[in-house]
Amino acid sequence: MASQPVDSVFLEDATWERVDKATGGAAASCFQCGVCTAICPWGLVKEETISIRKIVRQAQLGLPGWSDGLWLCTTCLWCESRCPHEVDITKASLGLRRLAWKERQVPPGLPTLLWNIYFDGNAWGRPPSERPLWAKGMAVKEFAPGDEILLYVGDDAAYDRRVQKVARALVSLLEAAGVTFGTLGEREPSSGDPVRSVGHEEYLAEMIDANARLFQEAGVKTMVTISPHCYDMFANRYPNLSGGFRPLHYSQYLLELIENGRLKFEKKLPLKVTYHDPCYLSRRNDICDEPRQVLRSIPGLELLEMERSRQDTLCCGGGGGRMWMETAGGERFSDLRMREAAETGAEVVVTCCPHCLSCLEASLSVVAESKLRVMDLAEVAHLALQGRTATSDVASRRP
Ligand code: SF4
Ligand code: SF4
Repeated sequence: MASQPVDSVFLEDATWERVDKATGGAAASCFQCGVCTAICPWGLVKEETISIRKIVRQAQLGLPGWSDGLWLCTTCLWCESRCPHEVDITKASLGLRRLAWKERQVPPGLPTLLWNIYFDGNAWGRPPSERPLWAKGMAVKEFAPGDEILLYVGDDAAYDRRVQKVARALVSLLEAAGVTFGTLGEREPSSGDPVRSVGHEEYLAEMIDANARLFQEAGVKTMVTISPHCYDMFANRYPNLSGGFRPLHYSQYLLELIENGRLKFEKKLPLKVTYHDPCYLSRRNDICDEPRQVLRSIPGLELLEMERSRQDTLCCGGGGGRMWMETAGGERFSDLRMREAAETGAEVVVTCCPHCLSCLEASLSVVAESKLRVMDLAEVAHLALQGRTATSDVASRRP
């Protein structure tokens, strides 16, 4: 029988070096067991999952070329947490995305995202002058060096009307605890998370430099972020902000206030909730207890756990730049997550990440038969502080 022709690929040293440099050699220790591909959550929603094993192999061999799968990865870290050889899979895939920018092989919409950040300083492409409008009517002032914390609002809480409510709830909690705080107002820069997640390393390096200088000049010591993605950036990707600089996610800060007796929930909130761990808090930064402890400090509130929780959480689908790319109907991880949340019998699924909040709310229709609603941790805590009737407040959150 005549043998079939096989496509050949020539590996050139220069190409290998280019890929190896972009991925920082992260793929070198992979031995192609395929565990990563087998457990990737895309396999739960797509007939043909993304082969992250192949993508890692591509980085290992220095093969050029860009598959759609490269842009599907949400950087949820699930595969990495189970890789027997501790391969830095995210570093390898973001390194390949970095090369894709050089080759102009990026999905539509992503260049606009970066231009928005470049010209307007935010992923939403909105004027910086509108950045402080989320706090209209509240006494939120500019940060001064003597303040206890800088509240880093972030692009989503500044411009997304839904997430603005989270920022306002958090401000009410800070005020109730007597915290002195301020924001950078119009001067607040993007943390760089969207730039990192789509792989534009060169631009990210410039942003980190400029932002670190801004925070240092402003005299920031303790920074509290609303988004886990911003927290991850400031905690792990700003080498020049080390030393006396202390970044915190707001769930950590709320717990500190509760433990110091500055924030106390005295009225009962009879509510059954389940907590969805954002990947960027739990798997990436091991922050699982703090949000739960805040919830447990609310009298009357019952916390029900989903099977996949803490470091084993199921990604909402919004990380890795996916918020700025199309996700086909029926392929949302958040649809699965909302079903899992409904199975607990909870009335509210609580989270503390703007991306998770948006994705989970977008999937409310899959649990239309249940009474499940989505709220942010700050909103639940604010509700508890006010002692308002839980059921009517939660019901008002119907989409
Ligand atoms: S799980 Fe780790 S070692 Fe196995 S194929 Fe994936 S990256 Fe390679
Ligand atoms: S990080 Fe998450 S989405 Fe990306 S390949 Fe790994 S498991 Fe899949």
